Parts: sequence; C-alpha cells; structure tokens
Amino acid sequence: MNPAILFGHLKTLCNTIGERPVGTLSNRQAMEYIGKHLECIGYPVNYQLFDCMNWNYYAASCNLQEESIPITVNPHSPSCSLNAPAIVIKSLNELKSSDLSGKIAVLSGELAIEPLMPKNFPFYQPESHQEIIRLLEEKNPEAILFISPDNNAIPVIIDGDFHIPSGTVPAGYGNILLENSGHTIDLMMNTASYQARAANVICRTPGEGKKIILCAHLDTKYYTPGALDNASGVSALMILADRLRRGAPQNPLEFVFFNGEECYNIPGEMTYFSSPSFDPKNVLLAVNIDGIGLAGHLSSVAYFSCPPDMVEISEKVRGRYPGVIQKDPWPQGDHMLFSLKYIPAMAFTTAAEWDITQKIIHTQKDTMDCLDVGKIMHGMDAIEKIVRTISKKYS
Ligand SMILES: [Zn+2]
Repeated sequence: MNPAILFGHLKTLCNTIGERPVGTLSNRQAMEYIGKHLECIGYPVNYQLFDCMNWNYYAASCNLQEESIPITVNPHSPSCSLNAPAIVIKSLNELKSSDLSGKIAVLSGELAIEPLMPKNFPFYQPESHQEIIRLLEEKNPEAILFISPDNNAIPVIIDGDFHIPSGTVPAGYGNILLENSGHTIDLMMNTASYQARAANVICRTPGEGKKIILCAHLDTKYYTPGALDNASGVSALMILADRLRRGAPQNPLEFVFFNGEECYNIPGEMTYFSSPSFDPKNVLLAVNIDGIGLAGHLSSVAYFSCPPDMVEISEKVRGRYPGVIQKDPWPQGDHMLFSLKYIPAMAFTTAAEWDITQKIIHTQKDTMDCLDVGKIMHGMDAIEKIVRTISKKYS
C-alpha cells in the first residue's frame, strides 16, 4: 500500500504542482496538499504563518549583434529594459579595478563559479561571496550577466535583498558575450515581486517527556520540480506521520514541513525557531529528511550534536538496514539549525558524491525519474525504527 501512496505524493508534488518556491501559488498548493492529507489521516494541522516575498518571472530576452542569447533570470531580480555596453570581468582583481557605471557587467570564471550566498543569510556568509556582492553594489552596473560554468545555468544570485537586475547565461552561449566586450547588449527582464504569506505545516502526536521532531522542507528553488530536493523527503514524512500515529511512541512527536529552506532569508525556519512555543530544552531529537532516494545510490544518516549513547542506539538499529550507511556530517540544511542550538539532530539523505547530487538538485533535471521509490521506503523503515527505539530508550 505504502509504495503506491508514496508514488502518488511524489507525482502530485513534482508533476502536478512542480516548482514550489516560498510565496508562490504553487507553494501554497503544496502546503494545502500536505495539510489536507494530514487532516485526512486524523491530525489537527497547524499552519504557522509568516510574511515572505512572491517573485514572478514573465519574460526575458538578451540580444547582442543579432544573436539571441538564452538567459535564466536570477530569482528575485528586479525588471529591466535596457541597451548598454557589455564589460567582461573574469576575476576578483579585475572587478576591483573596473568602472561598471552605465554598463552591463558580464562576469565569468571565479566570479560565476557557484551560487553566491545571499547577503543577509543568517547562518553562513563566506567572506569571498560577500566581497563580490559588496563590490557589485558599490560599482552598481545597470545589470549583471553571469556566465555559468556549465549548461545548467543555475542562478548565481538568488537574493531579494540584492537590487541590481541579474541573470545567468549557459556556458555554451558564454563565449558570444566574452568575445564582445564593449558591444551593446539589449537586455529585457520582466519580473514582479510582492508581499505574500506562506506557512510551515505542522502536526503532532500527544505524549510525555521531550519531543522528537521529524522534518522535511516542502519548498524548492525556482526552475526545478524538486523531486530529490525535497519531494522525496516530504512524501516520506507524510507517510511516517501516518505510520507513527498508530502505536505512537511515548514521547510526543512533531512533524514539521518547513517552508523556506531554499529561500534567501529562510523565512519559515526563522519563524519556527523564534516562536515562543519553541524551546530547545523540550526537544530530545530532530530528524531531518532531505534528498533521500536517489536511484542507484544508498541512503545515509549523519549525526549532529548527538550524545554518544544516542548514536550507539541509532547505529545498532541502522545496522539492520543495509541500504542506509553512516556518513560524515554535512553542514547544510535544516538539521544544522537544530544542531546550532545544541539539539541532537540526524540528517537522512542520499550517500552520493557531492558532484553527482550537484548536477541534479536545483536544476530541471531533478525529476521523479531520478528517484527510487524502494530506496525511499527502505529509508523510511529505518527512520521509523530508529525513532521508536530512541523513544523507548529515553522515556
Ligand atoms: Zn533540500
């Protein structure tokens, strides 16, 4: 029964709803889909509301000397419609010494190699990223085009606090821009942003003692159906909420469908952790599911701020699930937010090399075809057993 239900959740989230960034209509559809399902299986559902921005993209064009160049508009970019000379910049040193006023900055090499962390991101701000952002704001070009290191053209800037229009160009078209410094580019990007509301979706089982939180983020980046990241985690969590309600462990369980992990200012997480009802002292364990079930790979668990006896108990159970291996802590995702507050946390994901998952997540390639329902089921079985065992040992 469960595999069919799991498949149905995945299909709805990835195919019917599709990309679901915080604040968008499709994000609301995902929230409602999850909430209604939880109600159907017998939970009262709490929608923890917060303010956020809804950004929409309508059209874009980029032309240089009769040549039309495809661009990905960087999410949250303001609109623009302009004609300006291109200036090509390939390094931080070149950026420092260049005058960008009145120009369209074409950035490549080390300046466009990876997405830049948003300027006000609360937890992680590499100085090298901040320096690029600072220089760009200081020099204030008319617009910025990043030449992607590959043809996925993953947006380099995704930041509602950054107000220069920007887009990303696939590597295959980059040379046209790189070879034409000084020539005029016609650039049009039609976008709109407005205030919106979204919510974390939360339900709970009653119980005694400290609570065990199980979480998965329901939002995606723009331009991706978000199957591995993170429809698989959300679908698994919906089924776990059903399974763990029956013969519920003694500790209260809280199922949190976070809404904002992929957003520049993580509004859902900020709301959850600053809520007066959240008290780290009342949490025994947080279990995060993010990126589980990539076909052809094992699943993995990593431990964060967990006392050794808890790791030992969990590892003993995990040993019975050969499809789940232990992996070193990976410092990204909602489990980090618990760990930063010294709350024991476990993160379940796929045990694939970083560069394999990076070619899929946050891209259009992150579709249901990447997933193996059997692997997700196996991971869920392990999570259920670990949660039940830990509750038994600590109650
Ligand atoms: Zn994720």
